[in-house]
Amino acid sequence: MIHGHISRISGPVVIAEGMRGSKMYDVVKVGDEELPGEIIRLDREEAVIQVYEDTTGLSIGEPVENTGQPLSVDLGPGLISSIYDGVQRPLPLLVEQSGSFISRGLAVPGIDLSRRWEFLATAKKGDRVSGGSVIGEVKEFHIRHTILVPPGVSGTITAIESGAYSLTEPVCTLDGNIPIIMLQKWPVRKGRPYRKKLDPTIPLITGQRIFDSLFPLTKGGTAMIPGGFGTGKTVAEQTLAKWADAQIIVYIGCGERGNEMTDVLSEFPELVDPRTGLPLIERTILIANTSNMPVAAREASIYTGITIAEYYRDMGYDVALMADSTSRWGEALREVSGRLEEMPGEEGYPAYLATRLAAFYERAGRVTCLGPDDRTGSVTIVGAVSPPGGDFSEPITQNTLRIAGTFWALDTSLAYRRHFPSVNWIKSYSLYLDSLRSWYLDNVGSDWKDLRDRMMYLLQKEVELQEIVQLVGPDALPDSEKAILEVTQMIREDFLQQSAYSDTDSFCPLDKQYWMLKAIQAYDTAITDAIERGVSLKQIGSVPLKAEIARMKELSAVEDIRALSEKIPQQIGALVVEV
Ligand code: ADP
Ligand code: MG
Repeated sequence: MIHGHISRISGPVVIAEGMRGSKMYDVVKVGDEELPGEIIRLDREEAVIQVYEDTTGLSIGEPVENTGQPLSVDLGPGLISSIYDGVQRPLPLLVEQSGSFISRGLAVPGIDLSRRWEFLATAKKGDRVSGGSVIGEVKEFHIRHTILVPPGVSGTITAIESGAYSLTEPVCTLDGNIPIIMLQKWPVRKGRPYRKKLDPTIPLITGQRIFDSLFPLTKGGTAMIPGGFGTGKTVAEQTLAKWADAQIIVYIGCGERGNEMTDVLSEFPELVDPRTGLPLIERTILIANTSNMPVAAREASIYTGITIAEYYRDMGYDVALMADSTSRWGEALREVSGRLEEMPGEEGYPAYLATRLAAFYERAGRVTCLGPDDRTGSVTIVGAVSPPGGDFSEPITQNTLRIAGTFWALDTSLAYRRHFPSVNWIKSYSLYLDSLRSWYLDNVGSDWKDLRDRMMYLLQKEVELQEIVQLVGPDALPDSEKAILEVTQMIREDFLQQSAYSDTDSFCPLDKQYWMLKAIQAYDTAITDAIERGVSLKQIGSVPLKAEIARMKELSAVEDIRALSEKIPQQIGALVVEV
């Protein structure tokens, strides 16, 4: 065991001497209180340590002990519905928002090691197994939590038996007397292995129209949500955590205000999954490292989160990870780097910011899991970005832009006008449109792409027309162009706007989205045609269809929307006959 002592303290960073033989990223216990920390730089016998707790009260000369272990998380049954800090310590008291959550230096295991789980063996004596082989399962809420042989371990099973076990009791033994326990420890900075990455061809359905219909995300894909203060990043992340069709959700509250996390914590236990009817908390793991908590643990929190996400992916689940906000994570990186007196890059961020961000997002993906069975699992990452002043030219936004497959740009002026979600439809994009095309054609509608293209075309056309209107007034436009503005208003208000707080509309199934688009398209086609044949926009306005279209959101029966879309051409068509 390596023992040194503190020679310097600078905020969350401590320098220790006498640490010869240490490795990068070793976990150390700092000071008499044994505060957990991690070695982030080594210079012969001097170690630079980021400390995961408040360093106030530490003094020069106090001992530092190297545990010889990298920063790891405990993986196994019992993770789901847990609430953790950035280094996986349970935070049951967060809801009370006391400020001091756990006493300092407390080493608590991430999962209850004494609890016994009913293990059902699915492999048998004599089976040859290797990393990723399924040997059994336990029931964790409604999730079938498969017990896998850890990566790197293999052999022939010499003993295995169903029964009640704690996480540290062997459930299975391999030849050579290798015990397999349900607990796996995994170093957070290292991605868990898989067999192969797969193409992003399946969407992550979110129930949010602007996402699913215009800028879709894939299972295993990456998305960023940049936006200034109050534009709706947190609401978007929370909405995704509620409705995204993933089996497991990892939600990381990273450096944001404590009350936002409190909202999540008080709301989640009461929410019901619309697909399964089960409480949403039973598929969720929460990691909270709010702005009042130690900055270095914030840096670690996204790694803790992604490692847990990969663990469930390895079982063959679709996991979605939300991080709110990656900017606060970047600021933690900057603060620690500043203490190290490293050469600063852009805006004081360390030069390795881009590499770190890329390495994090790189851990997303849909994969063939490790092991002999052809299981498929995925980790999707949705990172909120909070650029100061809403200025997207800053380093975190720019560096994430190069990586993320979907860009959901939140817009201050839309939020100001209470257009929510305030996703700007001109600036946003999805790089997955091509790879998702055949899924949408097969599962949503054969004309899905045409529908989407038409909507996007009209929305872009609207920008042009609005410029003209600003210059010369609306009367200068012919009816055919005024009609476009009428349709785009419909797209914006009756389709894109979607309240996260509406009971009927906070989640919108894909078939409903499709028929809503069809209805708007029907209106678009019918009035364009009618105007060509001499009907005036005023006459069209006398048909009370617009109000009906505006009420589509609230309809729960897709049949009703379908009926509406069929009625539109008849009613408008009737005007043509009159002319
Ligand atoms: P940010 O995290 O970007 O600072 P929030 O997510 O806290 O912003 O959103 C600020 C406010 O905007 C919310 O309190 C809510 O009133 C409103 N808002 C954001 N998104 C929506 C939405 N989809 N539906 C309704 N209101 C929303
Ligand atoms: Mg927020």
